[in-house]
Amino acid sequence: MNDSMLALTRILQAVSLIDTPQLQIRFIVDSVSAAVSRDVCSLYRVNARQEMELLVSHGLQVHQTICLPQGAGLVGLVAKERHGLNLANGANHSAYFYVQGTQEEQFKSFCGVPLVHHGEVVGVLVVQSREAQVLSEQEEAFLLTLAAQLAFIVVNIPNTQDAAIKQNRRFKGIKSVEGIGLGKAVLCGLTQLSEVQDVRTDKPQATIQEWIQLLSLVKEDLINEQNRLGENMTLSIGSIFDAYQMLLTDKGLSDKVEAYIHEGFSLPSAIKQGIYFFANRFKQMDDPYLTARAEDIIHLGNKLFHVWKGGGREAASAYKDPVVLIGAQVSVSDIASVPIKLLAGIICFEGSSLSHTSILANAMGIPAVMGVGQIKNVNTHDMVIVDGNEAKVIVQPSTLLKKAYKRLIKQEHKATLKLHNLKNLAATTLDHHDIKLYTNTGLLADITPGVKSGAQGVGLYRTEIPFMVGDSFPSEDEQVRVYRRVFEAYAGKPVYMRTLDIGGDKQLPYFPIRHEENPALGWRGIRFTLDNIQLLMTQVRAMLRASSGINTLHVLLPMVTSTHELIQFSTVLKDAYHQLQDDGVALQWPKMGIMIEVPAAVTQIPLWAHRLDFISIGSNDLSQYLLALDRNNPHVADRYDHVHPAVIHEVYRIVNLAKQYQLPLSLCGEMASDPVAVVLLIGMGIGKLSMSAAKLPRIKWLIRHIELEWAQSLLAHCLQLEEVDDIRFYIQQAMKDKGLQDMIKADDPNIKRGELTG
Ligand code: PEP
Ligand code: MG
Repeated sequence: MNDSMLALTRILQAVSLIDTPQLQIRFIVDSVSAAVSRDVCSLYRVNARQEMELLVSHGLQVHQTICLPQGAGLVGLVAKERHGLNLANGANHSAYFYVQGTQEEQFKSFCGVPLVHHGEVVGVLVVQSREAQVLSEQEEAFLLTLAAQLAFIVVNIPNTQDAAIKQNRRFKGIKSVEGIGLGKAVLCGLTQLSEVQDVRTDKPQATIQEWIQLLSLVKEDLINEQNRLGENMTLSIGSIFDAYQMLLTDKGLSDKVEAYIHEGFSLPSAIKQGIYFFANRFKQMDDPYLTARAEDIIHLGNKLFHVWKGGGREAASAYKDPVVLIGAQVSVSDIASVPIKLLAGIICFEGSSLSHTSILANAMGIPAVMGVGQIKNVNTHDMVIVDGNEAKVIVQPSTLLKKAYKRLIKQEHKATLKLHNLKNLAATTLDHHDIKLYTNTGLLADITPGVKSGAQGVGLYRTEIPFMVGDSFPSEDEQVRVYRRVFEAYAGKPVYMRTLDIGGDKQLPYFPIRHEENPALGWRGIRFTLDNIQLLMTQVRAMLRASSGINTLHVLLPMVTSTHELIQFSTVLKDAYHQLQDDGVALQWPKMGIMIEVPAAVTQIPLWAHRLDFISIGSNDLSQYLLALDRNNPHVADRYDHVHPAVIHEVYRIVNLAKQYQLPLSLCGEMASDPVAVVLLIGMGIGKLSMSAAKLPRIKWLIRHIELEWAQSLLAHCLQLEEVDDIRFYIQQAMKDKGLQDMIKADDPNIKRGELTG
């Protein structure tokens, strides 16, 4: 083989265009056998019984299901040793195992490489030939490289023989909206304008009339969808609909479509060409905001085509059961087409927690998971669980798992109802230690749930969200209006308002940050705002003005790593304060504190204590930086856990330093809403936790059912443990013994299903 890299790229590119995994693997074995000029290429997969099941073969006779017992033959040896085997004559090897009926005896050479996924052998790729000839080094390397890619495909192939594998297919994504939803899959984005064939018409005038009618139908449809969203219609969602309406009335688009109709194209063909003409223009722009608008144009094109085909007008009434929307992207129109009461969840193959879909789902409180990668073999009406708390999706859950999740949904619901009774009660342990519970927010739509849940303040207001949903930096007055509503809603209670924390995974569409090799270590948080001091000045002025007369502002700085950042910020704060005072604004000097989310900040707490009024642990970033694990990377997502011993020990160090230097301390990362972590945090003596409003009831309930002393003794034991799983298991077992099994997650691998469902 001359150019293995080229062969590999060609195979993988071709595979990405093939729809079903079965056809993909068939194509791969045929292509591999041709690429290495060998007679046989076979793919084995480890099945549920740990046997090696022959999935597909080029060259072997396969008339029935072939399964090799675990560890049997050369294939079993490759799997066991997790190492390739390259033999001129396989039959001479002591591990050789002849499989009846395959006519394998005619093939002498054997080269097998393991397929490994997340550290586990999931299959073996084998090449054989009549000639007794080992594969060259280059050919073997080609197989090894291909096997690494092939493992991803193999794990996604449903096992037709084993129903248990078809069930409970799990996919990990990126956190978007917390909560759990269970419903029947509805696939979105199936009406793809891009698939329309170019067809000609000889009736251009009639087609133009059809186009004009279609435009008004879709405009009307969008208005209906917008109305259906009712009270969930926020400013940001409204602007998405406005953008659609603007595109529909845009003369440029209409003229273009009409021009294609005059050239003799049918309406769908003309729409496709018109839409893609503009979408491609946007795609080519350097500005990521404008590039992203191409997506809006294509969504609108799909919508036009869908309505043209006669779909979408009576869709809302067609839904009777809870629904989970699934698609590469789920558009605002898709969401609006389902009655809100029946919308159980949203799953996007692509996208991040800050996509329009995610923002909308958040505002509506619909559990959502983004960026799960393409889920194949999911059909309309398949049952799907969206676990927004864990960023997890389970397709076709088993009866047992469904039961467990339904129980969890009921518990969450009950806990929320119970909160009406708990709302005005303190989060006090059984041995009378008060814990303050604050809420994390960032959307105006999030304010009410926090107030309703009885939050004693806002522990983290993420200002980047109002910055992200607009088309440009919000003006000082605009910011004042948004922030003021937060201060008013929580009057008399502390509001920790964080200065803009963009960069890393959070980008402003209208202020692109040039590609960075390591964005998490790059121009983000306070580094970005101090370099753009005019933005920071505007924001700080807006915060001060908004809190005037209410005086509960706690300015919180993200990503601080050095003293000069604190000094520089203090100057900005002083300047803003004096400017406003000179303008006659009644002000009170705010409290100033920092997020402890970079390991460097932990060590400097003693040095900075005199400069700060408070500190807040950002456990999400702190875990990310301590463990060197990108919190948004699905490849390592399952390794990321904030109860990792390194994180626990470091958080404990922070708690002790805060005590020693008398710095008020809170914690506002995801740890604050994880019952296992909360037990440890209470044991450490933390007094303030901030979390999303949806999670607050459960945590309050937990705190009211435990003693500080109990948490302290569990902490003491866990500080000696070396594995995350051991820590989780130990605390969960202790919770169970205490009758707190409601706190244990339905899908926790540490808990035997039977125990959980009772
Ligand atoms: C954190 O890092 O823990 C945190 C709360 O900030 P964010 O998740 O917004 O980065
Ligand atoms: Mg952070």
